[in-house]
Amino acid sequence: MVPGVATAQPLFSFGLISDVQYADIPDGRSFLGVPRYYKHSILILQRAVKEWNAHQKHKFVINFGDIVDGFCPKDQSIDAVKKVVDEFEMFRGPVYHMIGNHCLYNLPRSKLLPLLKIQTLDGCAYYDFSPVPEYRFVVLDSYDISAIGWSRDHPKTLEALKLLREKNPNEDKNSPTNLKGLERRFLMFNGGIGKEQMDWLDGVLQNATKLKQKVVVSSHLPLDPCATSEEALLWNCDEVMNLIHRYKCVKVILAGHDHKGGYSIDSHGVHHRVFEAALECPPGTDAFGSVYVYDDRISLVGTDRMASTDMHFSPQ
Ligand SMILES: [Zn+2]
Repeated sequence: MVPGVATAQPLFSFGLISDVQYADIPDGRSFLGVPRYYKHSILILQRAVKEWNAHQKHKFVINFGDIVDGFCPKDQSIDAVKKVVDEFEMFRGPVYHMIGNHCLYNLPRSKLLPLLKIQTLDGCAYYDFSPVPEYRFVVLDSYDISAIGWSRDHPKTLEALKLLREKNPNEDKNSPTNLKGLERRFLMFNGGIGKEQMDWLDGVLQNATKLKQKVVVSSHLPLDPCATSEEALLWNCDEVMNLIHRYKCVKVILAGHDHKGGYSIDSHGVHHRVFEAALECPPGTDAFGSVYVYDDRISLVGTDRMASTDMHFSPQ
């Protein structure tokens, strides 16, 4: 044994994958020209589940959203979502889902949330869970305030459209043309966190602090501009980060949506890791991970295109 090398056993481990964006359609490209392999991505999920099941000790799996692509023919949306969910359910343990814009292009919340088994009273999709007493996981609903997913006349749709009109003068609200720097996040395919969810998050962080729990926040949309392109950020990432920084309990923020992946440590020592998309893996390659959680760090072991990242918590 090498002196000084940590040999502690993890408290627990879990599996993760992001942006499967499956569809039974020919391969294509993103608006930036990056190849997308719509049919291959479900094979990655199958390989991931097989791998996670081989690690008997994985406590759960988190899916970071966008399980079916927006180009999926709409008469196939329900079957495609079910097909991907069925693959996740081959994992022998709980699977925690979150919704992404592509999920909402396919199905409204009323149909989507029951398929993803997200408990909801009012159509919102944020929740938390505590796999061990030392840790709390928060799953945000990044499309709480959004122009997609709610009915056209829903107050949250109207609030989102008002914000987009104010912030983005382009006719196509998915275009960042002429928007500068961080303002480039005000695009229709993004969303924001509403007042009730902010209050709920505040309450969870207060409670976690009282219980001396460390918190891992999961969100489809990234929260730190140093870990992602500006066009992928949550609309009110600054407001959410101001709230998070009032506490010391949040150690790591994990996200999807910006397919190329990214990593940063912010001014308060919070780690931000944005995951590489399964969708953009050429056939035969993978992008999924296993995360090992310790008292003082979490360690992501990525496969192929998903980089491995050791996230050591800063001393308090
Ligand atoms: Zn997305």
